[in-house]
Amino acid sequence: MKEDYYDILGISKGATAAEIKKAYRKKAVQYHPDKNPGDAKAEEMFKKAAEAYEVLSDDNKKARYDQYGHAAFDGAGGFGGGGGMNMDDIFSQFGDIFGGAFGGGGFSGFGGGGGQRRVKGSSLKIRVSLTLEEVANGVEKKIKVKRKVQASGVTYKTCSTCGGRGQVTKITNTILGRMQTAATCSSCGGAGQLIDKRPHDADAQGMVVKEETVSVKIPGGVEDGMQLKVSGKGNDAPGNGVPGDLIVAIETLEHETLKREGDNLHYDLYVSISEAVLGTSKEIDAVTGKVRIKLEPGIQSGKILRLRGKGINSINGYGAGDLLVHVNVWTPKTLNKEQKEFFEKMQDNENFIPSPEKSDKSFFEKVKDMFS
Ligand SMILES: [Zn+2]
Repeated sequence: MKEDYYDILGISKGATAAEIKKAYRKKAVQYHPDKNPGDAKAEEMFKKAAEAYEVLSDDNKKARYDQYGHAAFDGAGGFGGGGGMNMDDIFSQFGDIFGGAFGGGGFSGFGGGGGQRRVKGSSLKIRVSLTLEEVANGVEKKIKVKRKVQASGVTYKTCSTCGGRGQVTKITNTILGRMQTAATCSSCGGAGQLIDKRPHDADAQGMVVKEETVSVKIPGGVEDGMQLKVSGKGNDAPGNGVPGDLIVAIETLEHETLKREGDNLHYDLYVSISEAVLGTSKEIDAVTGKVRIKLEPGIQSGKILRLRGKGINSINGYGAGDLLVHVNVWTPKTLNKEQKEFFEKMQDNENFIPSPEKSDKSFFEKVKDMFS
């Protein structure tokens, strides 16, 4: 058996509209979820009171209820046939009941429904150029940013139009019942707050531009075009809002000798015929600085030397790529008489005749190896 709406609100049948409203306000405050966290019974009462008020505050529904009782709303089209109201419906009613004075101040977090809105400041975007060395190892950059911050001495007050919610709820009666629409508050533009005292150097939102140095940690392995977000280093928001983000767009600079491919790096090494024949040691560029490598006598052109872990640090933090050194033997294009005679003499020498062994893999096999 459903409880009588008048009993729920603790009023008599002859109560006036003002008395009904007053009674509901009392119950709503008494059983408000913010005051009774986790109390299921209070929530139940809170919902019942809201449902009773929904009916008794509406002349048409009240007349039907007075005549037929709960039976008036059974079946299709009736109010609360089986379920009653959900919390959002109830809170949306509050604008009517409590007016601006109560809406924002009295209750903090309206269930899932909003409460005091915290506006977020706008994002700032800056571009940062990184050398390959910085990309490979990660780097901490100090970046100068011009941010909007609240001027000193500025004060804000809660917007009375929306009660600090930043949104106004409009309820219209339609053929389908009461429809609720939310719109951005036009008085405060959605911020929920209005400027109170504003220093003369501040803009309309009470903000001034300030240059700040922001330290940004960029991990190794980033790629050109990537964006990093630094939370809270964008523009401040007015009042009790939260600052926006700083978006750091990564731009990578080409390296003179190293080419990137994923996390691997490639380096073209040129050696003379003499060096290839006699063996040598060479200093090559790596992202950690110069690295000396040894070439065995008789090294073949096209040989790829793999320096493990000397590539780019993986962005997910697991290990690093390799540095692949491609050996190119430089064939002299001009020779003097003496040199020419030497090479002519060597033409049919068995040491000069190509005789690749299995270990001298073909170019295609090497490429296959590299990507496996
Ligand atoms: Zn407002």
